[in-house]
Amino acid sequence: MRICRYNADKLGLVKGDQLIDVTLALDVIPQTGWPKPPGDAMIANLDTIKPEIETNRKMGYVQGVNNVTLKSPVANPTKIVAAPVNYLDHFDESREDSEIHFGRDIQTIEGYGLFLKASSALVGAGEGITLGHTDRRNDHEIELAMIIGRTAKNVPEADALDYVAGYAIGLDNTVRGVEDRSLRKSLDSYAVLGPWITTADEVEDPEDLDFRLLVNGEVRQASNTKYLIFGCRKLIAYASSFYTLYPGDIIMTGTPQGVGPLKSGDRIECHVDIIGRMDVEVR
Ligand code: MN
Repeated sequence: MRICRYNADKLGLVKGDQLIDVTLALDVIPQTGWPKPPGDAMIANLDTIKPEIETNRKMGYVQGVNNVTLKSPVANPTKIVAAPVNYLDHFDESREDSEIHFGRDIQTIEGYGLFLKASSALVGAGEGITLGHTDRRNDHEIELAMIIGRTAKNVPEADALDYVAGYAIGLDNTVRGVEDRSLRKSLDSYAVLGPWITTADEVEDPEDLDFRLLVNGEVRQASNTKYLIFGCRKLIAYASSFYTLYPGDIIMTGTPQGVGPLKSGDRIECHVDIIGRMDVEVR
């Protein structure tokens, strides 16, 4: 099932290039007072929302998915966890490119661990990327994104994928420089998630997905998640040994070789097996 958020926080079911309004399915989310439980209420209640989507799709308004503004399918993650240097070919290019390493010794994820991106950086495909600090290089990084479905703490690798609600395409956009990653990768709109969530039942093996990113029609990045240094299972196990993961938390799994600068007017096109295609404009 492909589930999206669009326009003024409507819920959509995507079928091919059609979108069905299933916003009424959100009515099963229990009303809660203050403080709300941590996490995203739609993701936390997905098991009860899914049958409501099936019921509501028969009467929902249908339109082309390209006619709406796609928002991040997760509205309220408690955090965006991200994996630094999690492909060996990106390790190699980072060591060779002085505009990436700035004289620092580059390590892999085994040396860095994980980092966090601010939740305020999160946007959907239709909202686009607004560049900041344009005196610096601003790079694209395509990544498989995992959306956590239920509270996870100290999860063993063998069970890790049971905690995933679904998958999406992630862009971990980056200002290059010497500051901490959490600063350079957290500008507003520097975490793109979309175009929708493809539910986990449709993704048999997230550790074998081809993906690619094009800028203005030219292929910049192309790889497969089987080349991850820390695979999907290990990332969840490792992250949950430090953080409690809540429903809606996002794990961006890392980017392969081919990162490169973006400029205003660029059109980014992302493809990931099973999930589909995501188009994002740069301003
Ligand atoms: Mn990244």
